[in-house]
Amino acid sequence: MITDAEMDYTGNETLKTCVDFHGHLCPGLVYGYRVAMEAMARLGLARAEDEETVLISENDSCAVDAFQVLLGTTLGKGNLILRDYGKNAYTVFDRNTGRALRFIRRKSYVYGGTVPEEYAVLEEKMNGGTATPEELKRQKYLKALDLLQSPFGDLYDTEEVAGPDMPPYAPLAPSLPCDCCGEMTMATRLVTSIDGKRCCRACAGKETKP
Ligand SMILES: [Zn+2]
Ligand SMILES: [Zn+2]
Repeated sequence: MITDAEMDYTGNETLKTCVDFHGHLCPGLVYGYRVAMEAMARLGLARAEDEETVLISENDSCAVDAFQVLLGTTLGKGNLILRDYGKNAYTVFDRNTGRALRFIRRKSYVYGGTVPEEYAVLEEKMNGGTATPEELKRQKYLKALDLLQSPFGDLYDTEEVAGPDMPPYAPLAPSLPCDCCGEMTMATRLVTSIDGKRCCRACAGKETKP
């Protein structure tokens, strides 16, 4: 976690907006920031008001918050789909043009290329177990800085997804009372128990526990 005081956001209000939403500047957030900016430029996107842009994120890291801010792909609107594979990869769909781009972090990228001397010293200290908490914080800051300064093509491979299967729109469904607790529940989220009751997942979970 890096304090705002260290970072100069002059000329980069967009990144500042992401940091304000997320709470701190970190390498994860910068990954999301770089991919979102690249996707917007390449697909000609503005921030989505509705579901015209859809994001599939293959991880649940800090990066996701930059997408929510910049692309307008949010959990609430349903145009943020999380497939938690633990991969630094993202697919951005543009419903208006039918295009989709997938970004996957390059194996060849190593941190510190744009800030080599200081980074090398800190990494040596970290590997030797002698780095102070301040030095560890500084190293994280340099990672974020390096991600900001490196050419995008060094960080990610970008592929145009041929004939992409556009994710369906977020479903709307009526609510029905749960047969177990009686609370109103989105009908598509009710599960049928062995005795034929239609229960909410919270109740269904309880029923299977000893
Ligand atoms: Zn973070
Ligand atoms: Zn229930």
